[in-house]
Amino acid sequence: MYNEILNIRAHHLLCIQGFQGYGYSGEFVENMGKIVKYIKENPKEKIRIVEYCDNICLSCKNNISDMCKNCESVDNMDKRLLDKLKLTSEQVVNIEEAFNLVNDKLKSLQDAYEICGECSWSEKCLWISKFH
Ligand code: SF4
Repeated sequence: MYNEILNIRAHHLLCIQGFQGYGYSGEFVENMGKIVKYIKENPKEKIRIVEYCDNICLSCKNNISDMCKNCESVDNMDKRLLDKLKLTSEQVVNIEEAFNLVNDKLKSLQDAYEICGECSWSEKCLWISKFH
């Protein structure tokens, strides 16, 4: 359980569904695993959708002073997904509704690639693999 509403950057709504235990380090995998478990077990709780470093980024080696080393690429993924979902950064949403919205708006490999086609994790991503 978390004491505060989790910040989740928009494109992590996809990563969370695709996570199967891979990541940038053991610390990263442990933190992300906890967040994924919490989100799956608490669909009625709320999260804040953001376009900057979030609770998952906290344990990432690419997070340098709250800026992602892959800034341009991940910022673009966040912006494209926010546009697609018609959400704005910092909007607080119900977890279940957020994932229903994502999976209602993104229904094909082409939809997925429009958001995160350049992601280096796509071969390991369970969410992308469901479209193959
Ligand atoms: S790569 Fe960037 S966006 Fe992804 S978890 Fe690490 S800091 Fe966050």
